[in-house]
Amino acid sequence: MSTTPESTTASPHPASTGTSAAREGARWAVVTGASSGIGAATARALAAAGFHVVMGARRVARLEQLAEEIGGTAVELDVTDAASVAAFVERVPECHVLVNNAGGAKGVAPVTAADEADWRWMWETNVLGTLRLTKSLLPKLVASGNGHVVTVTSVAALETYDNGSGYTSAKHAQAALHRTLRGEHLGEPVRFTEVAPGLVETEFSEVRFSGDTERAAAVYRGLTPLTAEDVADVISFAVTRPAHVDLDQIVLKPRDQASATRAHRES
Ligand code: NAP
Repeated sequence: MSTTPESTTASPHPASTGTSAAREGARWAVVTGASSGIGAATARALAAAGFHVVMGARRVARLEQLAEEIGGTAVELDVTDAASVAAFVERVPECHVLVNNAGGAKGVAPVTAADEADWRWMWETNVLGTLRLTKSLLPKLVASGNGHVVTVTSVAALETYDNGSGYTSAKHAQAALHRTLRGEHLGEPVRFTEVAPGLVETEFSEVRFSGDTERAAAVYRGLTPLTAEDVADVISFAVTRPAHVDLDQIVLKPRDQASATRAHRES
């Protein structure tokens, strides 16, 4: 089995809203949450590696711009909505790689002050979103003969921290779902890779703090965080290994971060 997804080059080609612009023989990758941050960088990296990328998110104008740049397919997707997921999956004729990336955090609060709407958002997006996409696309991933599910969890899937239980519990649950699949599909031609990043500078903290850019910037102050491209590079590496190699779990953090709660910062 080749380690490269296809034999043709990954030169830019026209944006597509369907299958017509997919390159002959290209392997298909689906990236959720591709309108920003890690998802957008992953769509670019996978296109550069030769995949035809189907990108999903709610902000479809951003996806269309990216599709024009990399020659992929832009499709509106709300992972919290079963009907939206069903319509999205209809637009994916074949699937070799699924990157469950859509997700994020809302708010920080101790358990005693937990906001149920924030919890619901985090569980619906990170956990049930991953469930819906994975469940819908696994038959196509297996049928491809060399499928690969990458789920972007977090160091918050490995540790808990004060005031973060809505997010840490959602990421733990998302990771438990993902890791379970590894056993349930043993013997089938599909790989499962969990990617658990530490601090990555994206729109993540702006979303968490409801658009408070000053508060969001403080999260990354005094250290060099990972970039979305750093994470995308790792995802691209994982999915271009030979078919018998499964990078089960990859934890990546900035050099200055030792754990979810411990980082070295220059004042
Ligand atoms: P980001 O820049 O905020 O990107 C989040 C993406 O998720 C956006 O494209 C957003 O698109 C999409 N999304 C949110 N809700 C959605 C929904 N209901 N349906 C479809 N798409 C949805 O943040 P990011 O850092 O790249 O986050 C990507 C993943 O990495 C998340 O799972 C996050 O938990 C994880 N992560 C991030 C960090 C970090 O420090 N940044 C660390 C560890 C793990 P729309 O708003 O357009 O729908």
